[in-house]
Amino acid sequence: MSNPASPNLPIYALYAIRYAARDAVRSEHFIGGDPHDGPMPMDYFIWLAKSDDHIVVIDTGFTAEMAIKRKRQFIQCPIKTLAALGIQADAVDDVILTHLHYDHSGHFDRFPKAQFHLQEQELHYATGRYMRYPQLQHAFEIDDVCGIVRLNYAQKVTFYDGDGDLSAGNLSAGLRLHRTGGHSAGLQFVSVHTKRGWVVLASDASHYYEHMETYRPFTIAFHVGEMMESFDRLKKVAPSLDHIIPGHDPKVMEKYPAVAGHEGLVYGLTKRPFRRVI
Ligand SMILES: [Zn+2]
Repeated sequence: MSNPASPNLPIYALYAIRYAARDAVRSEHFIGGDPHDGPMPMDYFIWLAKSDDHIVVIDTGFTAEMAIKRKRQFIQCPIKTLAALGIQADAVDDVILTHLHYDHSGHFDRFPKAQFHLQEQELHYATGRYMRYPQLQHAFEIDDVCGIVRLNYAQKVTFYDGDGDLSAGNLSAGLRLHRTGGHSAGLQFVSVHTKRGWVVLASDASHYYEHMETYRPFTIAFHVGEMMESFDRLKKVAPSLDHIIPGHDPKVMEKYPAVAGHEGLVYGLTKRPFRRVI
């Protein structure tokens, strides 16, 4: 059984764009560690949703300079990959930021025409009292956060407080935002209407498939209870587990086809996965 698309909603093609990676072990990814500590590398993605008349970029990744600073393997600048797909960043109208961690919010200055869509609570968190603690500020870059503040001063940010059907903001009836929190205080995930129904970009509501499968929380956490509820919400919103795309899992590359000519970089999420989830 498929989950067919709704006839009255716009249909988006949806892609994961992989731009960086790092080696890691399992104990880095689960609060409480892992008894079978072994390799568990991490990939870094942005996402592209494209309909006949609308292009949306979801998250913006980090820069080559940030990769050096944070000792990440930079595979290819996601702005360059967008261009290779025929998408010029300076022509994009809408950018959704799932949250403001460094690996999701760099490159904001490369989208001069765009309106950015963000949960208001995330900016409160990133500029608020908890940022005095190095442990909580570590995943933020102050220049990125200040950059978003500047964009707001330039009327370039649309804020949401809770779940948003973006058609209310004249964006699209085929996109939905879901405020969830947990990993970061104002984290949101995104539903995109595709030809196989609603596909849910979890972003960091579930870094890997394993987090939502086993209900073990990721190590960077603002509110562990909300993180657990995020796993529930992903499953409630998505038509099936096969419709949920985790934020950092290399398995995405095993489950979805690479776009020809962009192997290792671009994966189409519109078709059902090769291998079932779980
Ligand atoms: Zn992340």
